[in-house]
Amino acid sequence: MQKTVIGNWKMHGTLESAASLASEISDYVSVRALQRTKVVLCPAAIHLTKVLENIAGSTVALGAQDCNANEQGAYTGDISSTMLADIGAEYVILGHSERRAGYAESDALVAEKALAAKEAGLIPVICIGESLEQRESGEYAHVLEQQAKNSVPHGFHANDFLLAYEPVWAIGTGKVADVETIHITHEHIIKQLPQGSAILYGGSVKPENALEIMQIPHVDGVLVGGASLKSTSFNAIIAAAEQEGQ
Ligand code: PEP
Repeated sequence: MQKTVIGNWKMHGTLESAASLASEISDYVSVRALQRTKVVLCPAAIHLTKVLENIAGSTVALGAQDCNANEQGAYTGDISSTMLADIGAEYVILGHSERRAGYAESDALVAEKALAAKEAGLIPVICIGESLEQRESGEYAHVLEQQAKNSVPHGFHANDFLLAYEPVWAIGTGKVADVETIHITHEHIIKQLPQGSAILYGGSVKPENALEIMQIPHVDGVLVGGASLKSTSFNAIIAAAEQEGQ
């Protein structure tokens, strides 16, 4: 079973550091000749083309961290999915909790972006996740159900997208959802999605917990923030994915 490992570099790095990180990861992927793991790097938009140069010739794919829902127009500062596809990106992260919180992105907007991304030939990585309050009150199951139903466009098939379950309380906090929580939650989410959909887990994934997480049923890979910023830790997570996919 294939696993997908996505690095979300957020707003980190310089042109030079992004280039070296991309090379260190793509060299590792090429030397290991991965059979079961798809690796995707999502640098800041301004570093996309540089990263693409540095993963050329490897199986590593390029992804962006967001796109506008429109193909073109007067949207100062924004980038369309068509532009991303044009420069060679294959994936785009959408509806990350940092964008939902910081830019008031709704499920409906995420769905519009996902549709535009698919039309441009990209694979949207649609993120959903509950807050700590929603987890503790037990409301989380309903919240995730609604997010999944409303953020994934109607008519999408399993291979049109990846879903990333990222509990907000586990992102960048060092707190990882335990195995049981991830298992039960992924089982719940999968029921809301087209048959055969892939679900990634995200939230403080590190080399130390990657294998255990990857072994949970219905975990088809991981979306990694902090630990994707160093090749040593990210490559160790890739190794765990490859090992589990055996
Ligand atoms: C993320 O931002 O998508 C993420 C999972 O971050 P971290 O791995 O740092 O928790």
